[in-house]
Amino acid sequence: MFFNEDHNDIRALAREFAQKELEPIAGEIDKTDEIPQRIYDMMAEMGFFGLKIPEEYGGLGLDTRSYVCVMEEICKVSIACSLVMSSCNSLSTAPMLLAGTEEQKQKYIPKICSGEEFMAFGLTEPGAGSDASAMTTKAVEDGDSYILNGRKCFITGAPFAKNTVIFAKTSPEKGAKGITSFIVDMSLPGVSLGKNEEKMGLHGVATSDVVLEDVRVPKSEILGEVDKGFITAMKTLNTGRIGVSCQGIGVAQGAMDLAVPYMLERKQFGQRLADFQALRFMIADSEAKLNAARLLVYNAAYLMDMKQEATKEASMAKYFATETALEIVSNCLQMFGGYGYVKEYPIERLYRDARVLTIFEGTSQVQQIVIAGQVFGK
Ligand SMILES: Cc1cc2nc3c(=O)[nH]c(=O)nc-3n(C[C@H](O)[C@H](O)[C@H](O)COP(=O)(O)OP(=O)(O)OC[C@H]3O[C@@H](n4cnc5c(N)ncnc54)[C@H](O)[C@@H]3O)c2cc1C
Repeated sequence: MFFNEDHNDIRALAREFAQKELEPIAGEIDKTDEIPQRIYDMMAEMGFFGLKIPEEYGGLGLDTRSYVCVMEEICKVSIACSLVMSSCNSLSTAPMLLAGTEEQKQKYIPKICSGEEFMAFGLTEPGAGSDASAMTTKAVEDGDSYILNGRKCFITGAPFAKNTVIFAKTSPEKGAKGITSFIVDMSLPGVSLGKNEEKMGLHGVATSDVVLEDVRVPKSEILGEVDKGFITAMKTLNTGRIGVSCQGIGVAQGAMDLAVPYMLERKQFGQRLADFQALRFMIADSEAKLNAARLLVYNAAYLMDMKQEATKEASMAKYFATETALEIVSNCLQMFGGYGYVKEYPIERLYRDARVLTIFEGTSQVQQIVIAGQVFGK
C-alpha cells in the first residue's frame, strides 16, 4: 500500500547488507565500542549516508519511504550502525538544506554523503535538554566573526566530527527568538571535547560534550538568518523523528525474530515455550502493536513524500513506535528467561540499545506535548 517496487528493491539490498555484513559483527561492535571502517565504507558506497539527500549535493535523492525501508532493515540487527546513517540524512544535513546558502550546501553536503566528513548536531546543553531554548551558549558579534562560548552535551559523533552545527544565543534577551545556528569547524582554536560518555548501549558511536571557549567563527559560517536558528533546529528535529521511529520498529522486529525461533525450540514442562498460551498471547500482543507502529511510521513517511504537513504524524510515529519497541524488546527478552540477561544472547544488546529511543530527538513526553498541541490547536 505504501511502497512500490523501487522501495522493495532498496529494502532487499539493505536486508542483504544487514544480514550478511552487520549481523555477524554486531555483538563485536558492542564489545569493542567500534564500528569497523569497512562498514562505513560499504554504507557510503551504497549511498546510505545521502540516501534522501538531493542528487545535486551528492545524495541518491530517494524519498522518505526508501529511507524508512533501509533504516528498518539495518535496525533489525544494529541500531548503532543506523545512527551514523540517520545523522547524515537528517541532523547533519537538514539544517543546511533548510537554511544554508548554496555555497554552504555545495561545500559541506557532498562530503557528508560520501562519508568523507561527519557533521554533528549540537543543540543540547547540561541545563537545556527538552527545553532547548534555555541554552546559555552565546555568540557575540566581533567584526566579520562571532565569538562563541558555551558547552553542548550528549553530541552524537562529536569525537569524529569534522564540523558541528552549533546553536547559540545571539540575542539572549529574545529567548528562542534570539538563537542562531553556526557551522563550527572542530579544529578551530577553543573547540575541545569532553570525555567519551560510557553509554548503556549504542556502543560504536561515540558521544561527548563539545566545549567552546572564545571560538572565532566567521560570519560566512552562519546557517540561515541571525536569530532564526531555533526554527531550523525544530524543523530539523521534525524530520529526524521519522528516523528514530524506524529504529523503534526495526529493533522490535529484530527482537521478535530472535524470540520466535527460540520459543519453538526451548522446552519446559515437556512443552515448547511456543505452546504456552500465556506466552503466545504476549507474542500476539507484540505482533499487533508492532504492526500498528509500522503503519504510523509508514503513514508519516508517505505524507512527507507527498509534501503534506506531518508534524503530528511524525511525533505520533516516534512516540508510539519507540514506546512500543521498549515493551516488545522487553517481552522478547522475557522469553529467553535467564539467557536473555547474559551477553551471549543478542537480545540483551537489543534491550540496551533500544532504551535510548524514547529519550533522544525529543523524549516521549515532548512528543506528547507536540501531539496535544496539534490536537488542541496550541
Ligand atoms: C545517546 C544520546 C545521543 C544524543 N545525541 C544528541 C545529539 O547528537 N545532539 C544533541 O543536541 N542532543 C543529543 N542528545 C540529547 C537528547 O536529545 C536529550 O537527552 C533529550 O532531548 C532530553 O534532554 P535531557 O536529557 O536534558 O532531559 P530533560 O529535558 O532534563 O528531561 C528529563 C525528564 O523530564 C521530562 N520532561 C522535560 N520537560 C517536560 C515537560 N514539559 N513535560 C513533561 N515532562 C517533561 C522528559 O521527558 C524526561 O523524562 C543525545 C542524548 C543521548 C542519550
